[in-house]
Amino acid sequence: MRVILIGGPACGKGVQANMICEKYGLMHIGTGELLRDEIKSGTENSNKLKELIASGSLVPDELVCDLVKSKVATANGNYLLDGFPRTMNQAINFNDFDKVDLVILLETDFNITLKRVLNRRICLNCKASLSVDELKNGHCPHCSGTVSTRIDDNAEVFKNRYEIYKMQSAPLIKYYDDMGVLVRVQNNNSIDETFNQVKNILSKFE
Ligand code: AMP
Repeated sequence: MRVILIGGPACGKGVQANMICEKYGLMHIGTGELLRDEIKSGTENSNKLKELIASGSLVPDELVCDLVKSKVATANGNYLLDGFPRTMNQAINFNDFDKVDLVILLETDFNITLKRVLNRRICLNCKASLSVDELKNGHCPHCSGTVSTRIDDNAEVFKNRYEIYKMQSAPLIKYYDDMGVLVRVQNNNSIDETFNQVKNILSKFE
C-alpha cells in the first residue's frame, strides 16, 4: 500500500503516521525527520537546511525528491509519505517515479494547531512527538529521554509555515482530488477519533 499523508504544519501528521505504519506495516518516510537527520549528520547542506527550516521556509524540491526516492526504492511498495509532497513540482516529479494508492488530507483548524505547536516537545532519544502534558517529570514518558522543542516551533515561524502551506497545498489537493485518490479526515478532536476515521478508510485497501 502506497499512502501519502498531507496536512498543515503540526496538524498531527507525525502521530497518525506512526500509528498507521505500525498497524499496516508501512515504512514511515517523513521528510521533516529525514531533513533533521541530514542536519545532525553535518553534511555540506546542513547549515543551509538549518536556516531554511528554522525560518519555516521549504527546502529545495530537488533535494527533498532525491531523499524521498532513495527511501521509497527500499520500501517494497509499502510506505507512507509524511509531509511530502509539499509543492506541485514535488508531486509531479514523484508521480513520474511511483503511483500512490491513497492520499489522506488531515484537516485541522489554525488555532488548534497553533496550540499544539506551542505545547509540542520532541524526545531526543526515541523521537516521540509529545505534548507537555504527557511528560513525566519533564522527561519522555516512553523512554525517560530528554525532551526538546523544535527550532521551528514558535508562534511567528508557525504563522509563516501555515501561510506557505495554504498557498502550496491548494493546487496539490486539487491534483490528487482530480486523480481520484484524495480522502479528507477531520483532525480537530482526539488522536483516537482521527485514527478511527483513518482505519475505516484503510480497511478498504486491506
Ligand atoms: P515537518 O516535520 O513535516 O513539519 O517539516 C519541518 C520542515 O522541514 C518544514 O517546515 C520545511 O522547512 C522542511 N520540509 C519538510 N518536508 C518538506 C518538503 N516536502 N518540501 C520542502 N521542505 C520540507
